Amino acid sequence: MKILIANLGSTSFKYRLFDMGEGVAAQLASGGFERVTDYTSCIESMLESLVGEGHLESGEDIGAVGFKTVLGKDLSGCVDADERVMQALEGFKEVAPAHNPAYAEGIRCFAEKLPSVRRIALFETAFYQWMEPAAYNYAIPQSWRALGIRRYGFHGASHKFVAERSAEILGHTAIVDRVRRLYVDGPGDYSGAPLRVLSCHLGGSSSVTGIRNGVAIGTSMGFSPQSGLPQNNRVGDLDSMAIPYVCKMLGLSLDEAERQLNKESGLLGLSGVSNDARDIQAAAEAGNAAAALATDVLIDSIRHWAGSFFFKMGGAEAITFTAGIGENDAELRAAVCAGLEGLGVQIDPSANAQAIRGAEGIISTADSKIKVIVIPANEELVIAREVFRRVNN
Ligand code: AMP
Repeated sequence: MKILIANLGSTSFKYRLFDMGEGVAAQLASGGFERVTDYTSCIESMLESLVGEGHLESGEDIGAVGFKTVLGKDLSGCVDADERVMQALEGFKEVAPAHNPAYAEGIRCFAEKLPSVRRIALFETAFYQWMEPAAYNYAIPQSWRALGIRRYGFHGASHKFVAERSAEILGHTAIVDRVRRLYVDGPGDYSGAPLRVLSCHLGGSSSVTGIRNGVAIGTSMGFSPQSGLPQNNRVGDLDSMAIPYVCKMLGLSLDEAERQLNKESGLLGLSGVSNDARDIQAAAEAGNAAAALATDVLIDSIRHWAGSFFFKMGGAEAITFTAGIGENDAELRAAVCAGLEGLGVQIDPSANAQAIRGAEGIISTADSKIKVIVIPANEELVIAREVFRRVNN
């Protein structure tokens, strides 16, 4: 079965086509368009090239299209992208303005263009649907909670991939199966050897997730993806009182404050240099104190959240790093794990230095009680696998 994954931005359209064979994904083709104003013409051009290159006989040859939807009101999981999904995206369009309208529009265009091809949405919040109420409730009035304001969690596809892959690497086969079936069967019971993972997704957008036996117990992300760790140019955690105070003191409108929190904050706001970790590092090495502070705040925040989940899970068997920064920045990984020998974390400097540019590897010493692992992200593969499982159940 061929599965198409559509990755939709407000002005971009990217796709990957997988052949799932017996459930083992092989990527057949990928492509994309920038400065997009209309998804229908992108779908037409994409089909033209996929048919032209011999990957498809026609659009109907696609078994299902998968969408990595971000946040739905009152809806999560891996579900058919029907009217319910459209309403859920619409219900939270203000909270995920760069994502929800784009996905709603893209799903509509696929429905018009390829009506017989099944459409499946995998929400980024899906991995967090089994968190305890104590972990996702904010201490806000009942009327706010009734609006759906709570902690949701994002980067679900990425952290789920890490849950599965780390279990594979460490030989926990029962957990591999549990994670694979999670969105179909739910977590069920587990009584095998524990695997507690502190999963660090560190990229343009970053989050830490605590994963116990393949299931997320907590996330640094909150109601929106503007929370938790400092992001590239988006604020991370911030005391809510700062917003009315800044509006009053600087005479900002709420819209302008929101814009600055979304566009001029995070690592860019802290460093004043760039929203890209590489530029920030280069500036720090050249003596820029604000750039050095930006990296220090990121490291402190990662340790803060990882420490929280370590405590909540009563320990950990693994710390994992994924995404652009996590997969490439050996120095930052070492800094995150520094001084944790007492907890049983011992980095192997040479293995750490080698695990860059897409290389997977254990970067802790052989006798490190807690294993530290670099796992390259592959969100599209996760979506293809989930869509395949959904279609076959
Ligand atoms: P992603 O969102 O996963 O694509 O990650 C993008 C982030 O990864 C950017 O901030 C990049 O600067 C960062 N990144 C990529 N390569 C490196 C590297 N070699 N060292 C540090 N950060 C990197």
